[in-house]
Amino acid sequence: MKLHDIGVIGSGIGGSLISSLNKQKDLILFEKDSNLGGCASTFTRGGYSFNAGATTFVGYEDNHPIKRIFDKVGFKPDIKKSEVAIRVIQKEKIVDRIKDFDQFLENINSVYPHKNNYIFWKTIKEIDEKFWLLKKIYFGKYSFDRYIKTFSFVFELLKVYKFSIFSTAKGFIRDIFPDISQEYQNFIDSQLLITLQTNSQNISLLSLALGLSYPFHDVYYANGGMGKIFDDLLVDIDVHKKEKIVNIKREKDSYRVISNKDEYLFKNIVLNSTIFDSGNLFEDKDIKNYYSNFSFSDQSAFVVYMKLNIKKEYISHYQIILEENIPNCISNAFFISFSSMDDDKLSSDGLSITISTHTKASFWKNLQKEQYKKEKLKTQEFIIKKFLENFDTINGENIKYVFSATSKTFNNFINRTNCGGIPITIKNILNTASSNTPFKGLYNIGDTVFAGQGWPGVAIGVEILNKELNNG
Ligand SMILES: Cc1cc2nc3c(=O)[nH]c(=O)nc-3n(C[C@H](O)[C@H](O)[C@H](O)COP(=O)(O)OP(=O)(O)OC[C@H]3O[C@@H](n4cnc5c(N)ncnc54)[C@H](O)[C@@H]3O)c2cc1C
Repeated sequence: MKLHDIGVIGSGIGGSLISSLNKQKDLILFEKDSNLGGCASTFTRGGYSFNAGATTFVGYEDNHPIKRIFDKVGFKPDIKKSEVAIRVIQKEKIVDRIKDFDQFLENINSVYPHKNNYIFWKTIKEIDEKFWLLKKIYFGKYSFDRYIKTFSFVFELLKVYKFSIFSTAKGFIRDIFPDISQEYQNFIDSQLLITLQTNSQNISLLSLALGLSYPFHDVYYANGGMGKIFDDLLVDIDVHKKEKIVNIKREKDSYRVISNKDEYLFKNIVLNSTIFDSGNLFEDKDIKNYYSNFSFSDQSAFVVYMKLNIKKEYISHYQIILEENIPNCISNAFFISFSSMDDDKLSSDGLSITISTHTKASFWKNLQKEQYKKEKLKTQEFIIKKFLENFDTINGENIKYVFSATSKTFNNFINRTNCGGIPITIKNILNTASSNTPFKGLYNIGDTVFAGQGWPGVAIGVEILNKELNNG
């Protein structure tokens, strides 16, 4: 049997970026689903196209890994800039998260007046700006050399920020806004839940800054859906779609990979499955043990997909913050993405909408079939009701197709019940998986591996992994 160089299991943003960086090698990328992109794929149902989860493309700018990687492989994504990153609506209060700092400040001062708004948001923005200028971002384990490199990254962090960034977000908010209103706190926490999968209670100041700052960056809309970026990026890569890897055997200097269709031998394996699911692929006790060290994060997504019979341009992204929690969810907010009117694919026959919020995988897993259907409908109807209450120009009759997804749906299509990665809490940092493993030729990538959520976070991990793979 032929010994290939690299086998990449999964076409999420992590698997896809690392494949494109190594396309000159003898590499095969396996994807179990018929669509590429995992949480950021675009799929068709009922004749209409929808973004499955991710809808916001951030990180396509200088000093950011995604842009660096795309430039390196000579790829130009089909995207257009969004003027407003998110419009946040909290009852009658509206804040547009935009790049222009002064305009944003004016808006926030009118909605949540506070004498320290400038110092809070300026500090957040400056910490974030400094982070993306860091040259030596690195995290690795299992060898002296890698611990030294990790330490030198931490040293660089300390040089830039002193110890202050490791102080708590909670403390920082308390110092700057000792009298913060519950509404303002909710405004901050709801945005952190989107980016960090957690709130300000148990994160560091650095996480707070990175989590709140993405709207200060260029934010893009992907024409034809997020999935089109994967289709375009992977055009000259040996991609095996609808091929699920079911078993991997460690052999002397290689890995035997068994799929639902065939069998292969690889020198190196990159797993884009989550760190919680990867162990299931192996029988090797040591490898299974290694993966069992990472405690499962139960966090997942509930997503409503809708086709509206309207042709009207909306801001691409809205966040609605409610006073009460969404039934069966762990949030009082949901994130809405509208397709752009001139998007021939997503907006053919009307606008395509993706609405997402946070839930627990264990809740859906434990329900019997009928109960599951009932609870899913309850959550879907609640979200639609609140959605309609917030848009005067849309009514129930405009919805011509609607359905939703839970952690079970994500598991069926993209093999994961955890969605959104690991919450970046102070506690989690110590138990974070690295792109390298204790096993020669076995690597991890994705949002459950350092550095975490969203495309920019996963891309940091990809740059580290690429060095590991190429002895850099
Ligand atoms: C609802 C939602 C909204 C989000 N919104 C945004 C956003 O707007 N912007 C943003 O930047 N981020 C967003 N995120 C986060 C972002 O989408 C994810 O962090 C990122 O896309 C995850 O990439 P990944 O590399 O971990 O791979 P994944 O997306 O998890 O993809 C892994 C792939 O591997 C495949 N796979 C797994 N096991 C196997 C196997 N055994 N054989 C073959 N294939 C396999 C899966 O089918 C899947 O396609 C969102 C996430 C969710 C859930």
